[in-house]
Amino acid sequence: MDEPIVINNFIGGVMVPCQDHIDSHDPSTGLVWAKIPDSGQAEVDAAVNAAQAAFEGWSCKSAQTRANHLLKVADILESRLEEFAVAESRDQGKPVWLARIIDIPRCVLNLRHFAHAIPHHLNTSNVNPEMGVVNYTLREPQGVAGLISPWNLPLYLLTFKLAPALMCGNTVVAKPSEMTSVTAYMFCKVLQDADFPAGVVNIVFGRGPSAGQALITHPQVPLVSFTGSTLTGKFIAQATAPMFKKLSLEMGGKNAAVVFDDCDMESCIATLKRSSFINSGQVCLCTSRIFVQKSLFKDFLEKFTAVAREVKIGPPSDKDVFMGPLNSKPHLEKVLRYISYAVEDGGQVLCGHGVEILDLPPQNKEGYFMRPTIITGLSDKSRCMQEEIFGPITCVTPFDTEEEVITRVNDTPYGLCASVFTSNLARGHRVAHKLKAGTVWTNCWLVRDLDMPFGGVKKSGLGRESTQDSLEFYTEAKTVCIKI
Ligand code: NAD
Repeated sequence: MDEPIVINNFIGGVMVPCQDHIDSHDPSTGLVWAKIPDSGQAEVDAAVNAAQAAFEGWSCKSAQTRANHLLKVADILESRLEEFAVAESRDQGKPVWLARIIDIPRCVLNLRHFAHAIPHHLNTSNVNPEMGVVNYTLREPQGVAGLISPWNLPLYLLTFKLAPALMCGNTVVAKPSEMTSVTAYMFCKVLQDADFPAGVVNIVFGRGPSAGQALITHPQVPLVSFTGSTLTGKFIAQATAPMFKKLSLEMGGKNAAVVFDDCDMESCIATLKRSSFINSGQVCLCTSRIFVQKSLFKDFLEKFTAVAREVKIGPPSDKDVFMGPLNSKPHLEKVLRYISYAVEDGGQVLCGHGVEILDLPPQNKEGYFMRPTIITGLSDKSRCMQEEIFGPITCVTPFDTEEEVITRVNDTPYGLCASVFTSNLARGHRVAHKLKAGTVWTNCWLVRDLDMPFGGVKKSGLGRESTQDSLEFYTEAKTVCIKI
């Protein structure tokens, strides 16, 4: 067995060893493969001090100079794409091919997109001849941004926050998830190799309740951008409210798909296979409730179950594997508990773990694998239909009318995204307008454009991320008025 990678914090441009460590497991084998710093208040204080010291120099640079720094990082990251894809897969459990075509290229895109876009949007001006004044607006950085990210899309979601925060002139202290810290650590080396100014980016590794909490409550961190569970988001909102911090919360979902009987069924099923089971169902946007119009229900269920049964599960390094393991043992146990809840609540498990036996190589026997699971026969109020499971489980249920399905889809505490399948464009628009969600896709899923606002309503989120939204979040506007 290889020796575990030992990770250091990245503070003031240098790697700083930490005394205590947390074991991080390879989800496909269950073996320890990395040792993560178990940072606390002292490490966070040091990182915030370094970020504060670097703020003046970084915020005074022109947006173009900041962009040049980010673009250099993007180029180096891209040149190491394969190395990063393999590490992301090993750390998180997703197939290498998925990290190779989605995660890491999107990290590069995050850096390039915000480097190119933000300079065009930073400041505005107008002349009012009647009042004889020139007004202009400055969008000013706010200081040290605290960034907290989850384990499902580790480097992708970190860079989605990092790039706009930096381009707006802030310095940063980031805390990646303790479950998946390796690619963020490798990214620190990229920053060093790109001669990125010391102290502008600091990364402190560790647990949420220690390192994370020290960061979000730090008096010198005026803004916090968080992606993770609704439970943690609620805690962060409560802890930071008395400090009047600016807050962006991207949280959980219970996303629905609505399948009308006039849809292109083949394409719909191919999309729903991806939306339900990609990354083992561990994307915040994954579909976990599928409403199918009654005339199509039986046929849909047969075809969709057949597709799910064919999904290849196995070691993430295998190029034919569609689904790797889940991220951790406790998470797998939680997801499996939902299958028991479904049975208790009267549901039928049509395919999935407990129904079929997995055939895995010996070294993967202790990995955290399960099969794509389809459940039907549940009431809308059952736990599987209401609570975020965050695994490869999707519940299918019939509906009669458009009006009925809109009410039923909206009947959860969440509102992150939804998808609608129909060949009737007018209906696609109509339903999209009535669904309570931050994004509604029609005849597709997870098509992202960084210029488009991303975020959730209800318990799924507070605020949006995009070129414009992130710019507004990571800056404060100041109006300057001059008499001419
Ligand atoms: P989590 O809330 O357990 O952890 C997220 C991050 O918060 C981690 O870095 C963790 O260490 C940190 N954290 C935990 N407790 C903290 C505290 N007290 N103070 C400060 N930081 C703390 O979430 P997770 O299990 O890592 O991620 C899965 C969740 O993330 C799911 O609910 C999923 O829907 C959600 N998610 C949402 C989006 C989105 O864009 N809406 C995207 C990805 C994931």
